[in-house]
Amino acid sequence: MHYDYLCPICHGQLRVGDKLVFSARTRENKLGLIFLSPELGNYTTEHHPSFDIQEGEEYLYHCPICHAKLNSRENDKLVKILLVDEKGDEFEIFFSGIAGEKCTYRVKDKEKEEFGPDKDKYKQYFDLPDEYRKYL
Ligand SMILES: [Zn+2]
Repeated sequence: MHYDYLCPICHGQLRVGDKLVFSARTRENKLGLIFLSPELGNYTTEHHPSFDIQEGEEYLYHCPICHAKLNSRENDKLVKILLVDEKGDEFEIFFSGIAGEKCTYRVKDKEKEEFGPDKDKYKQYFDLPDEYRKYL
């Protein structure tokens, strides 16, 4: 199973080897690189020990290629990237930018799949009626 993960802005490849790479920043402007697992529902993260990740702290994720902010415009606690599967189908992936929160959503049109023990936390964001969502 080999999926590509893309920046929704520049469509650059965020997956290098078996990691997704992001540039992250706290509200206090601490900067560092975060490596995440490309496996949905696997919340293993890696970072340099000098970049001290605090549980519960909110991180802004940036594309390491074009530096665009990847936190969703509608809900900036969620980070949005794209997934392209082996058939070429494109999905939107949302995950929490808050350290320690384990939830991931894979969305395509009206279909949504949820992953992780904290998946109920942002559920209501995806359960909005379609007529309302299109204005987001
Ligand atoms: Zn980019």
